[in-house]
Amino acid sequence: MAASKCAHLNGELSRRFLASVDTVLFDCDGVLWRGDEPISGASDLINGLKRTGKRVFFLTNNSTKTRSMYAEKLGRLGFKAEPGEVFGTAYCTAIYLRDIVQLKGKVYLIGGRALSEEFGAAGIRHFGCGADLVTGSPKDWASMEADPDVKAVVVGFDEHFSYMKLNRALQYLQDPSCLFIATNTDTRLPLEGGRAIPGTGCLVRAVETAAHRKAQVIGKPSSFLYDCVVKDCGLDPARTVMVGDRLDTDIQMGSTCGIRTLLTLTGFSSLEDAKSYQDKGALSMVPDYYVNSVADLLPALSEERQ
Ligand SMILES: [Mg+2]
Repeated sequence: MAASKCAHLNGELSRRFLASVDTVLFDCDGVLWRGDEPISGASDLINGLKRTGKRVFFLTNNSTKTRSMYAEKLGRLGFKAEPGEVFGTAYCTAIYLRDIVQLKGKVYLIGGRALSEEFGAAGIRHFGCGADLVTGSPKDWASMEADPDVKAVVVGFDEHFSYMKLNRALQYLQDPSCLFIATNTDTRLPLEGGRAIPGTGCLVRAVETAAHRKAQVIGKPSSFLYDCVVKDCGLDPARTVMVGDRLDTDIQMGSTCGIRTLLTLTGFSSLEDAKSYQDKGALSMVPDYYVNSVADLLPALSEERQ
């Protein structure tokens, strides 16, 4: 671990840093792109890292894409990527239910097509996708016919989120043995031009408030995405770094997992935010290093290849 935290990674330090790393975990939004706009030079870095024999994985809290959809987006924006390198919350939530929980029943899913596809691929029975139109009166809602086979409620990003879905989740979650899982708790989804839309965290909070329960969260800062990379691909923590734009998710996860962390300033968190965590002694949210953009590592990378 770096002796002094939050060091600017440039010059000789970045050359030594790259030589000490063979697996790089990247967050996507705010690191490689913003919305559909790639960060300049980011694809050159990813493709160059791979050419020098380093392994790259993509760890994203976003639940709106399957591994294949992510690989397609990465490819479209110039990044060389395979579905097996993508660890998103749609895929990892399905793996959690299949391998960790070993769920025997069904899932009531508040979520979209990508979650439904990954659940299907993992053999997780589920329902709930799409619009849930208002029928009946409050009395009917409280006594709705619940499927006794539902053993878990999963909340991810769902553009059809509604009062009917909130009520359905509550009816299932009143049974304490019904699991309550959230893909992630990011409050906003960033788009191009600094604009944003409400994120999955808003829906999770609504269901938590109704159910008087806390969801178990799959996405960063939980270590489960990292655990999935370790299990599927293996890695040496001492030679691995997590690169992200958010201190409370990406950097916190890297600290929890005992790997080095690198903050890039093209997204959510600022250097001032990092300094303020440092002043407060919240060191798990202070990165070991920072760069203005991941493209700043390109000169050191081209020297390493010579
Ligand atoms: Mg991000």
